[in-house]
Amino acid sequence: MEEWQQLLVDGINRSSQLPPQWRSSKEGVDQGDVEKTFPIRINGYYSSLISDPDGPIGRQVIPDSEEVLDFESPVDPLGEDTDSPVSAIVHRYPDRVLFLVTNQCPIYCRYCTRKRMIGTPEGVVTRREVEEGIEYIRDHPEVRDVVLSGGDPLMLKDDYLEFILSELRRIPHLEIIRIGSRVPSSLPQRVTPELCSMLKKYHPLFMNLHFNHPDEITPQASLACNMLADAGIPLGCQTVLMKGVNDDPDILKKLFQKLLTIRVKPYYLYQADLTRGANHFRTPVAVGLEIMKKLQGHTSGMAIPHFVIDAPGGGGKIPILPQEYLVSMEDGDVVLRNYEGNVFTYPDIILPETVREEGGLGSPEPEVGPLGNRNGHAGK
Ligand SMILES: *Cc1c(COP(=O)(O)O)cnc(C)c1O
Ligand code: SF4
Repeated sequence: MEEWQQLLVDGINRSSQLPPQWRSSKEGVDQGDVEKTFPIRINGYYSSLISDPDGPIGRQVIPDSEEVLDFESPVDPLGEDTDSPVSAIVHRYPDRVLFLVTNQCPIYCRYCTRKRMIGTPEGVVTRREVEEGIEYIRDHPEVRDVVLSGGDPLMLKDDYLEFILSELRRIPHLEIIRIGSRVPSSLPQRVTPELCSMLKKYHPLFMNLHFNHPDEITPQASLACNMLADAGIPLGCQTVLMKGVNDDPDILKKLFQKLLTIRVKPYYLYQADLTRGANHFRTPVAVGLEIMKKLQGHTSGMAIPHFVIDAPGGGGKIPILPQEYLVSMEDGDVVLRNYEGNVFTYPDIILPETVREEGGLGSPEPEVGPLGNRNGHAGK
């Protein structure tokens, strides 16, 4: 057995294995009740990062009675089951699909949007379903990008993952393969030299990792990311904004800056979804906007992800920006506010009617608004 497989076996897989100081109950509901609906997995590596069960790492994986005290919220908040032409595929956007290849993960995150299927017997993805997914992509020439997800595709054994990747690479219209993975942040031992040399045969291959807190960037996680980056895989990070985990501008700034040092580019910061069993992690949207304001301009643009809300009911990811930046846009003036709160005017280009009708590129002499000058230093 490989080291990573041993870490899974030796981890906490049942509520009875939780150490006494990690036990809790609320309203007569304990973690044994939670486990019946939402399975538990805290592998031996990730559990070693937990010092306080109520701390940012502990909260992500230690079951909480709150999970089964919520009966209102939707089980499938993003309407993924509705946009699913074959069971392993979610096809929502014109040119790309989500391909759910497994329901296993290195840990079972308590906040997971797909907790309805993760680690459950009903959620298992069969080889037949994976083959159907590959066929679907082969039959749909508009699909130029596939996101392998689940669950975590790196939980599959190398040869099965290679079967999927090689079948996908034989599809001429498929340009980009992406893998979404929690492995580097929660079971970095899974990133072996063998895995990396297999993956690099299937370029252009991108990976979006999932780090939520700077304490997840350990020497082992850094090594895993460096190995993947050395295999030529561009690395991004998708972070979920969560109460009591990372809802603090300093924590997120540190996370995003540290990610860059291990060659991971922050990609998305997600507003937590409205998921049954995960709502105790939600923060007001204003908190996320405030965090974005404290990043933009204050640190490298490289360190700044898009803040998005995945709209309930299948609306997809919608980016949101603090409203302050665009003060107004009228009469040829775009009035802007910068990160320090200072106001500037950008003189917009006004197209003469005739040029506009012909779809031309605009007049050579843009009008300059009263506050503006062409160097952009006006209106402080
Ligand atoms: C997130 C997502 C994608 C990928 O979206 P990008 O914005 O291109 O990263 C594709 N399909 C579904 C259903 C998704 O939720
Ligand atoms: S690794 Fe991802 S899919 Fe798996 S439980 Fe965590 S958030 Fe959900």
